[in-house]
Amino acid sequence: MHIHHLNTGTMCPIGRRFVNGTGGIFQRARMVCHCLLVETHDGLALVDTGIGLDDIAQPLRLGRKWVRQTAPRLDPSETAVQQVEVLGYQPGDVRHVLLTHLDRDHAGGIADFPRAKVHVHRKEHEIAVLHKTAAPKGRYVTDQWKHGPEWTFYGEGGDDWFGFKGVRALGDREPDILMIPLPGHTPGHCGIAVRAKDKWLLHAGDSYFFHGQLQAKVRMPLVLGYFQRKADLERNLRMANQERLRQLKSTHGHEVTIFNSHDPVDYENCRCGQH
Ligand SMILES: [Zn+2]
Repeated sequence: MHIHHLNTGTMCPIGRRFVNGTGGIFQRARMVCHCLLVETHDGLALVDTGIGLDDIAQPLRLGRKWVRQTAPRLDPSETAVQQVEVLGYQPGDVRHVLLTHLDRDHAGGIADFPRAKVHVHRKEHEIAVLHKTAAPKGRYVTDQWKHGPEWTFYGEGGDDWFGFKGVRALGDREPDILMIPLPGHTPGHCGIAVRAKDKWLLHAGDSYFFHGQLQAKVRMPLVLGYFQRKADLERNLRMANQERLRQLKSTHGHEVTIFNSHDPVDYENCRCGQH
C-alpha cells in the first residue's frame, strides 16, 4: 500500500516558542493538518481532510475567533483535493474518507469528495451531526457536511491491535486500515492505523498535540497546552489515552509510528521516513 503524507492546512498562530516549543515569542508558529492518502485495494482512501475549498471561499464559516487565533494560511494548493490532482488522480478516485473526528480542521475537505464514503465513529456523528448530545456552541461547522455525505459508522469492539481495539474500516478486502477509538478530545475521536510496508502508522488525530507528550519525560509548550485543555471535551479520557499511546511508543515504537494531526515535527519525521 503506498501512502502519501499531506499537509492540508498550515496554521500560523502567534507565539512560536509557546506553541512549537522553539523560536521566539513574537514569531509565528507553524502547525499543519496532517492527512494520509492511501492507495488501497478499493481505490484511494483519505485519512482526515483538513481545510477544504469551501472553507477557503468563505473563511468566516470557520468562526471569526478560530480564524484569528489559529491564523490558517487558506491556500487552495494545500487542500487535499488539489494535492490529489497534482499526484495525478481525479477527486472521484477517492472512494473513502476516514475521519479522526469532525472538528473543522479535519472535516473541511469532505465536500471536495462528494462521492466518497465518510467513515466516522457513531458517537462523533451523534454529537456533531445529529446533535443528540449537546456540543459546546460553535464547536462543529455543520456546513461542512450539508451536502449529505454517505456516512459509515463505527462503534466499540473489533480486533486487538497492540492492546487497543480496532475495526477494519474497509472490511475484509483491506485488512490493514483500522479505526481505533481514542476518545477524549471529542467523544467519538478515533485514531486510524494503516499498515505501511514493514511498519504500522497510527494517525492519532488530536489525541495529543505535541511530540513531547509521548516522550518518557512529558513536555508541552504553554500555549499549546492551554489550547488543548480548552478543546478537550472529556479531558480525563484523553489523558488516559495519551498515556496508553506513550506506553505503545515505548514498547512497540519499532513496529508502530505514531503521529498527531498538527505537530510539524511529527509531520516532517513521517515525510523524511517515507513510510
Ligand atoms: Zn484538530
